[in-house]
Amino acid sequence: MARKKIIAGNWKMNMTPSEAVELINTLKPLVETDEADVVFCVPAIDIIPALEAAKGSNIQIGAENMYFEEKGAYTGEISPAMLTDVGVKYVIIGHSERREYFAETNETVNKKVLKAFEHGITPIVCCGETLTQREQGVTMDFIRQQVKIAFLGVTAEQAKTAVIAYEPIWAIGTGKTATTEQAQEVCGGIRKCIAEIYDEATAEAIRIQYGGSVNAKTAPELFVQPDIDGGLVGGAALKPDFGKIVNWK
Ligand code: PEP
Repeated sequence: MARKKIIAGNWKMNMTPSEAVELINTLKPLVETDEADVVFCVPAIDIIPALEAAKGSNIQIGAENMYFEEKGAYTGEISPAMLTDVGVKYVIIGHSERREYFAETNETVNKKVLKAFEHGITPIVCCGETLTQREQGVTMDFIRQQVKIAFLGVTAEQAKTAVIAYEPIWAIGTGKTATTEQAQEVCGGIRKCIAEIYDEATAEAIRIQYGGSVNAKTAPELFVQPDIDGGLVGGAALKPDFGKIVNWK
């Protein structure tokens, strides 16, 4: 069965709650489609107004992060039950900015992925190499390690529903998109890695996004690649351009 594309926006630390409502109202008519799942991953404080604003549309609201404990003395964190209680279905896990600025590791990513599945939330699991790693020729080794650890203890049935976002760090927010060949090569490598961990059926089912300066111009050539099932979009997700990315065909 053909995989349905999934196009997700990562708002990062942008948009106050009132700005979020305004942006969703602007984007709502532009992102209508039956051909892709459309997810807006928004700051925690925007989740509830965003859900309200997106009601009746095809926009699904996701979180940008989540903690791996159920509850307790973890000041400032958001629990999985807090997300499911309001209807959040997706959460970005292990974005490179969280790994770089908030000390997330492959191990904490794994704990969060397991916890998300436990609560029925679909994780969008991020991986990606630095420019140095690419230049040293260790891109695939590095990403395989990230993916293998992220999926430790995850069942094949769960993995089939997961989303992996391949985001070369050197391409995030830099305006430098990976070439379609580079993006397809790594996304194909990730699918092979999933086949090794699980089986062909799981590898065929899992959805793999490309992320890194995706815009309306680059989306079509990226999204036709056989192993690229959509995009994780930062900057361009905050503009009407996002409508063109979603309706890339
Ligand atoms: C991201 O935040 O995941 C991202 C890919 O950002 P940008 O599209 O701005 O490079």
